[in-house]
Amino acid sequence: MGKIIVIGSSNTDMVVKTGRLPAPGETVIGGEFLMNPGGKGANQAVAAARLGGDVRFVAKVGNDLFGKQAVQGFRRDGIDTSPIFTDPQAASGVALISVDEKGENCIVVAPGANARLTAEEVSQALENAGAGDTVLIQLEIPLGTVEAAVRLCAKKGIGVILNPAPAQPLPDDLFPRLAILVPNETEAGLLTGIPVTDAATAEAAARQLAAKGVGHVVITLGAKGAYSFDGQQGQLIEAPHVHAVDTTAAGDCFSGALAVAVSEGQDLPAAIDFACRAAALSVTRMGAQASLPYRKEL
Ligand code: ADP
Repeated sequence: MGKIIVIGSSNTDMVVKTGRLPAPGETVIGGEFLMNPGGKGANQAVAAARLGGDVRFVAKVGNDLFGKQAVQGFRRDGIDTSPIFTDPQAASGVALISVDEKGENCIVVAPGANARLTAEEVSQALENAGAGDTVLIQLEIPLGTVEAAVRLCAKKGIGVILNPAPAQPLPDDLFPRLAILVPNETEAGLLTGIPVTDAATAEAAARQLAAKGVGHVVITLGAKGAYSFDGQQGQLIEAPHVHAVDTTAAGDCFSGALAVAVSEGQDLPAAIDFACRAAALSVTRMGAQASLPYRKEL
């Protein structure tokens, strides 16, 4: 089994529950306050580690309590934190989240140190990586760093799984260097201009992305499951029917699980089924990292 090298963000989510979200300039007295580890990179690293992956996490935190707590949490999950850099100047990433009674939210992210993870640092972290390892990346770190990482992996023969979240346009030369692209409906829509809502529209979007040179496209479709397209053939892999209580980090759980199955040499349909089962379990529980399942639960 190869290593899974997750390159991405780490944040501390600060959540306040409130009867209603404030209007601009308004102060609202809210309810409960919760502080949770988050960030797409961190969530995916934790998901992969809990599901049995041999995980290294390449990230950057500030020289503060939030960064130290985050790193301690990764270690508790058995993640190799040696490639986590500490920035002496920037604060650790923070997300300020207000959630109202209907579950509607309002989020402001201060990326802090995440925005200062450089191509040189990633290259240093990948020094001993090689073919047989799997790299998993998202878009909460600078796009230039993502591009450099993908280029370096292509040179070293390392398969890259890119979860293009949060949605943003990508340069054309990135696509042919990706083994697997894993967008959700919104991200697939933004990358292709095709509104994705079901298997048929997912297929149209996947065909377009495959034509740009991606090896394999996997579009997650929420409760419907995921659409897999290998450049020739596509299929919908259905999600298990569950009672969803909180879909936060469902996509992160899916990507982390997919990386584990791929690193174990499972074929893509089996890997996607594994990811669907892991993500379905995560939506039955509250929270982001708190909801991420362990291998023995599947
Ligand atoms: P994101 O969290 O990025 O918006 P999705 O909503 O597509 O991504 O969810 C990712 C994956 O999580 C889906 O492909 C599916 O496997 C699983 N999932 C999400 N919502 C549900 C649900 N209600 N029931 C079962 N599985 C779900």
